[in-house]
Amino acid sequence: MELGLKGKTVLITASSTGIGKAIAEAFAEEGCNVIICSRSKDKLIETSREIKIKYNIEPFWGICDLGNQKDIENFYQVINKQFGKVDILVNNCGGPVPGFFSDLSEEDWNNAFKQVLMSVVRFSYLVLPGMIEQEWGRIINITSIAVKQPVHNLMLSNSLRAGVTGFAKSLSNEVGIKNITVNNVAPGYTLTHRLYELAVNRAKTLGISHEEILAEMSKDVPMNRLAGPEEIAALVLFLASQKASYITGTTIQVDGGSTKAIF
Ligand code: NAD
Repeated sequence: MELGLKGKTVLITASSTGIGKAIAEAFAEEGCNVIICSRSKDKLIETSREIKIKYNIEPFWGICDLGNQKDIENFYQVINKQFGKVDILVNNCGGPVPGFFSDLSEEDWNNAFKQVLMSVVRFSYLVLPGMIEQEWGRIINITSIAVKQPVHNLMLSNSLRAGVTGFAKSLSNEVGIKNITVNNVAPGYTLTHRLYELAVNRAKTLGISHEEILAEMSKDVPMNRLAGPEEIAALVLFLASQKASYITGTTIQVDGGSTKAIF
């Protein structure tokens, strides 16, 4: 299928590992100008090298802490100088700390608010003028199945992803007229470093091994396995493409059927 993405400039946030990295790879394979960021220079260099070897596209990378407004503004200034505009923004972020309500401090809430919700708001502010001017753009937020069905022990994710979902729907209403779509992709259990950490954390609480936790997670999924990050990336790629030109304001889960609700 011709996705019409070649030559587009794509910014993927929190993209040196996991789902973000898989998304960066998918866009590199399509011949896009790929921009990645995270807090770790070493990981960014490593990811950038890997992508260059595999797809002969060298991602443009920058250090950016998504919880820090100045970092976001400075990084965008550099991007703007280099590329002039961003055609496709994929808002990914590091997962907020796990925990029940009683485990979380005011600081945990503030950090999660900045990282999960405000990074989406801030990057959207920065890229939208260019998208509006060219009357084309895509904003895709990586959220979680938590928006359909709260996940055990993930109070911060359950609360703040809902904010991103409301933001995306509202924004899609405002910018649809300019041929800009705004959508959310909600992954279920996906085998990445983040999931491994969550499994270790849950294993400690329950006094069993993290292997058992991962096996339990798979049992909850009708397809009886966890997702690969490239399976999340495949939907992001489609939503960014010309083929998805009439899909906006929606949330699509990639979860092997694990969400119990009908809608
Ligand atoms: P991951 O831990 O493998 O990767 C997270 C990425 O974010 C890394 O590149 C890391 O360097 C970067 N990062 C972390 N904090 C950052 C910060 N403050 N500023 C900039 N970059 C930062 O995680 P993942 O599994 O790929 O998950 C990605 C997102 O998807 C997370 O928000 C996670 O909660 C969500 N999600 C994951 C799953 C899953 O099962 N893996 C399921 C649902 C939702």
